[in-house]
Amino acid sequence: MNLAVWVERHGQRRPRDPALADGEHVHADWGTFAARTAAVAGSLCEQLGLSPGDRVAIVMHNRPEYLEALYAIWHAGLVAVPVNARLHRDEVAYILEDSGSAVVVTDADHADVVGSLVDSVASLRTVVVAPGERWDRLTGWSPMRLVDRRPDDPAWLFYTSGTTGRPKGATLTHRNLLLMSLSYFADIDPVHSQDSVLHTAPLSHGAGLYGLPHVARGAVSVVPQAAGVDGDEISALLRRWPGMSFFAAPTMVKRLAGDPAVAAADLSDLKTIIYGGAPMYLADLEEALAVFGPRLAQIYGQGESPMTITALSKADHADREHPRWRERMQGVGEPRTDVEVRVVDDDDRDLPTGEAGEVVVRGDVVMSGYWNQPEETAESLRGGWLHTGDIGSFDAEGYLTLLDRSKDVIISGGMNVYPREVEEVLLRHPGVRDAAVVARPDPQWGEAVVAFVVPAEGETSPTVEQLDQTCLDHIARFKRPKDYRFIDALPTNNYGKVVKRELRETLRTEADADGPND
Ligand code: AMP
Repeated sequence: MNLAVWVERHGQRRPRDPALADGEHVHADWGTFAARTAAVAGSLCEQLGLSPGDRVAIVMHNRPEYLEALYAIWHAGLVAVPVNARLHRDEVAYILEDSGSAVVVTDADHADVVGSLVDSVASLRTVVVAPGERWDRLTGWSPMRLVDRRPDDPAWLFYTSGTTGRPKGATLTHRNLLLMSLSYFADIDPVHSQDSVLHTAPLSHGAGLYGLPHVARGAVSVVPQAAGVDGDEISALLRRWPGMSFFAAPTMVKRLAGDPAVAAADLSDLKTIIYGGAPMYLADLEEALAVFGPRLAQIYGQGESPMTITALSKADHADREHPRWRERMQGVGEPRTDVEVRVVDDDDRDLPTGEAGEVVVRGDVVMSGYWNQPEETAESLRGGWLHTGDIGSFDAEGYLTLLDRSKDVIISGGMNVYPREVEEVLLRHPGVRDAAVVARPDPQWGEAVVAFVVPAEGETSPTVEQLDQTCLDHIARFKRPKDYRFIDALPTNNYGKVVKRELRETLRTEADADGPND
């Protein structure tokens, strides 16, 4: 099945209902969305000479045309390569080259950068700027019939956000994305045609993926006009587009929860905030629950198993009477309906409840492989299970807690220290806004625990002694940081995830230079 059938069907059944919105304004009804999708598809094939299976990249900020391009690409049987628009030119070039993209759909803000790559990226034939004259010609082309797709045909090359190395293109098929959408209905929320989805986060990542279940059910896709998260605009959009859900990284949820415009808003039209993609610390979650009430659901997934490994449902968040509610809130919830999830040792043997090991996943939502990387694919999918690289453990009720990425675990004096646990404790101190814990090579201990701490605004910066005491009050002595660094902000990538690699590099450079702390 071709996922673009959803747009075609809503176009037939409810042509005058709103489909795409630019802030409060309707950009296209379903009839128009379906007509543009079929026309752009026709133009991509007949005018630009593409054939099913060819790749078309999208490099643009969130805007309604993004969704028109995405569904047109699928309508024509092509493969979409959504690229994070905030990436550096060389990173964009790398993804275009790796995916062999033949066409890029971009916007005016990125037209120069993308245009400059036509000569250097061998596969790239042309660049289309949307909105614009050329885009108008594409949308005015004669409509094309929906191209038949098999379940295993690739639909989306999802380039991993690269907190740990060169991005790789997880190949997501039509079946993968269909399963992702169906299990959203099973585990997160049912969606109705009167609902809306707000795209506050980049469409090239989680927000774009979770747009799919909403398009499937005929809800309105709303693109805010302010770049990023603006509490005032969200309050206004809630009134205009009720039944609203959106996906947000934990850092975004934290920012919104602290926004006075959100605190003052009538949230009765807010349906669900789905957060995930990085750890949500308990202290932040409690603040968010106080503002948003039982409207939060957490998902744990990765590009390779799009948005779908486990979920902590809205009901779990609301179940405060549960004796282990706090522990549950620090975890990532139960396996999703459409996947099997295990925790295994280095030889892929199951570990008992409570023991930490690598999280592995199997199911029809799991990618078919990395684009053009047979060795990496075989390694990652060995034995038919996706090896996530995340370390976690199950409790007796089958809820999973993530300890860390395996690459982030610190081994100090032969003992494993999971940075997340130390970060949770540091964040309990009122003088700490953000914390990231990493390893520094250490001649005595192998690795030493180092904490980067961002002091809270308006509070006096905590002292090393106070932080030490907070750690001693809650965790084993050997987990306590050997060194604290106070900084203004943690380095984050374009999706708001903390890039620990950069913090480790800072420490390594200092060690190489025999710096003050060694
Ligand atoms: P990406 O493929 O870029 O979306 O990154 C996926 C990785 O983000 C996962 O393998 C986890 O390490 C992390 N991650 C995703 N969701 C969560 C979550 N709910 N809690 C903690 N870490 C998460």
